[in-house]
Amino acid sequence: MTKVLLLGGTSEARALAERLTAAGVEVTTSLAGRVADPRLPVGAVRIGGFGGVDGLRSVLTGYDAVVDATHPFARNISANAAAACASGATRRPLLRLERPGWADRSDDSWRWVDSHEEAAALAARLGDRPFLTVGRQEIARFVPDLAEHAVMARVVDVPETVLPPAWRLLTSRGPYELPGELALMRAHRTDVLITKDSGGEHTWPKMAAAEQLRIPVVVVARPPRLPGIPTVHDVDEAMNWVRGLTTMSG
Ligand code: NAP
Repeated sequence: MTKVLLLGGTSEARALAERLTAAGVEVTTSLAGRVADPRLPVGAVRIGGFGGVDGLRSVLTGYDAVVDATHPFARNISANAAAACASGATRRPLLRLERPGWADRSDDSWRWVDSHEEAAALAARLGDRPFLTVGRQEIARFVPDLAEHAVMARVVDVPETVLPPAWRLLTSRGPYELPGELALMRAHRTDVLITKDSGGEHTWPKMAAAEQLRIPVVVVARPPRLPGIPTVHDVDEAMNWVRGLTTMSG
């Protein structure tokens, strides 16, 4: 039976774990362990970093294939998976499952930037009351430019960074709905939304709310994709890829 290592931490990874398990494929989902109370997928789970490429290589000996379904901004683990699966005794078929970004839905009120620092500087010019939704790990990069702004920052877990007194921290986890996002942004009097191009539907309602409220949106573009890795954009395609492996090996 094909044993799949699924690099997770996303809703797509959870959906794929469920589908693979139902199809009788032996799958282990790997989580980084960043979130205090993660949503656990169906099937076996391991938690914590591997210890770089070499650590990942030693784990890979127990698997036949790898699906990298990590978040589009989690590029270190994707690069490690690409390196570990590329050659030597741990050469393994590797698939990237990456949800589509939001570029197709972009409009004139969206301002695309290539880094979180650029996003901070631009948002500081565009508004006084930003709604910051880039995640806990990046939050410190916004403090220098936005220390005096009335930032409402939303994260899953409280960050270690000490936040400026003018900031308000919300801890919650999506998915979110449009009415709630509208109410939140109205109550805060948000005048600029800061996000990264995470894609997907779970956090989309804030974008729809910004459009309704005619608020500019600063969007951090995704880091470049790794070259040469077969990539699919939804769980059905990933299932087909795994089925193809099973057919080939069986
Ligand atoms: P990252 O910068 O690419 O990874 C940093 C290190 O964390 C990796 O080198 C690896 O440590 C470990 N790691 C990351 N993902 C792992 C996984 N699925 N299983 C085991 N180890 C993992 O990743 P990140 O941006 O910190 O994201 C961490 C996790 O959170 C990812 O699984 C991602 O899918 C999820 N996530 C990230 C974001 C985001 O915005 N970045 C948003 C939602 C969910 P070693 O080198 O020791 O192996």
